[in-house]
Amino acid sequence: LYNQVQDLKGNIRVYCRIRPFLPGQPTGSSTVEVIDEKTLTVLTPSKYGKGKKSFTFNRVFGPSASQEEVFSDTQPLIRSVLDGYNVCIFAYGQTGSGKTHTMTGPKELTKESIGVNYRALSDLFLISEQRKDSISYDVSVQMIEIYNEQVRDLLATDGVNKRLEIRNNSQNGFNVPSANLVPVTSTTEVLNLMNLGMKHRVVGSTAMNDRSSRSHSCLTVHVQGRDLSSGSILRGCMHLVDLAGSERADKTEAVGDRLKEAQHINRSLSALGDVISSLSQKNSHVPYRNSKLTQLLQDSLGGQAKTLMFIHISPEPNALGETISTLKFAERVSTV
Ligand code: ADP
Ligand code: MG
Repeated sequence: LYNQVQDLKGNIRVYCRIRPFLPGQPTGSSTVEVIDEKTLTVLTPSKYGKGKKSFTFNRVFGPSASQEEVFSDTQPLIRSVLDGYNVCIFAYGQTGSGKTHTMTGPKELTKESIGVNYRALSDLFLISEQRKDSISYDVSVQMIEIYNEQVRDLLATDGVNKRLEIRNNSQNGFNVPSANLVPVTSTTEVLNLMNLGMKHRVVGSTAMNDRSSRSHSCLTVHVQGRDLSSGSILRGCMHLVDLAGSERADKTEAVGDRLKEAQHINRSLSALGDVISSLSQKNSHVPYRNSKLTQLLQDSLGGQAKTLMFIHISPEPNALGETISTLKFAERVSTV
C-alpha cells in the first residue's frame, strides 16, 4: 500500500512557468519572484497589507527558461505512454500568460521555440523507433475542442460544427469515437494536422486579447503497441490540453455570449480542479461528471494515469489579481 500511495502522489505533478515581460509592452517590476527550483513568491495585494506569499510546486520555471528546459522534465511521461499508460498534460492560466507558447510555441516556430506538443510527438516517434525490434507501434491522433460545453472535431474534413458525444465505455480507449482519427508516422504529419486544428479553433475577441481562446483544445495521441514475440497488445494515450483562459468574466467586460462563454469556462475549470484535487487527496469519490472536459479525460485522470499541469503566470502588476487566483488553483491541485 505504501508504494501505491507513493505512486499516486507522483502521478500528479504541477509545474509553474512565469512568462517574461513582452517586447513593446509596458514593463515594471514582476509581481512574482523565483526563489529556487521549486519555490516562488508573489506580492500580496496592498489591501491585505503589503507582503509576499510563497508557493511550492514540483518545479518553477522562471521567465528565461527555454522551451527545451521546460520540456526536459516531461520526457519520462512520453516513455510511459509507450509503456501503455495514459497521460494528461495541461496548460492552465489567464489569457496571455503563455499557455499556447508552452504547448505549441510562438507564431513563428523554430527548432528552439517549438513547444511541448511537437517535442512530445517527436520523442514518441524516436523511442518507438528504438524499440522497433521488439514492439511495433501504431500512432494516431485526434484533435478536439470543447466550447460552451460542446465537443467539436478540429480535424473534421466535413465541417467542424458537428457536435460530438463522449463515451467512456469504450474498450479501445477512444472516448470520442466519432472524431476523425488520423494515423501518423512522422512529426511533420503531426505538425500539419496541428496547424489545421489550430485554424479551426474557435476564437472570440475580448478586451484583454483579441485572439483570446475561449475554448479548451485537446490533442490526443493514441498509441498501440504489439509485442512482436508474444503478440500481446498494449495501449496508451496522451492528451495535450491547451485550456481556455482562466480569467474571471468581469475583467473582460463580458456580456451576452461572452458572459456565457466565461461561465462555461469557469465551471469546467473548477470541475477540473475538483477532480484533480480529489485525486491528490485520494478521495474515494471523484466528480468526473461535472464537465465535458473531465468526462473526456476520465480514464486518463486518476488510477495509473499520470497528470502534468503547467500553471502559467503573467508577471505584470495589472495581472496580479489573476496571478493570485491562478496560484490558488495551482495550490489546490498540487500534492507538494
Ligand atoms: P495564452 O495562450 O495563455 O493566451 P500565449 O501563449 O499566446 O498566451 O502568450 C502570449 C504572448 O506571450 C505571445 O506573444 C507569446 O509568444 C508570448 N510568450 C508567452 N510565453 C512566453 C515565453 N516563455 N517566452 C517568450 N514569449 C512568451
Ligand atoms: Mg492561447
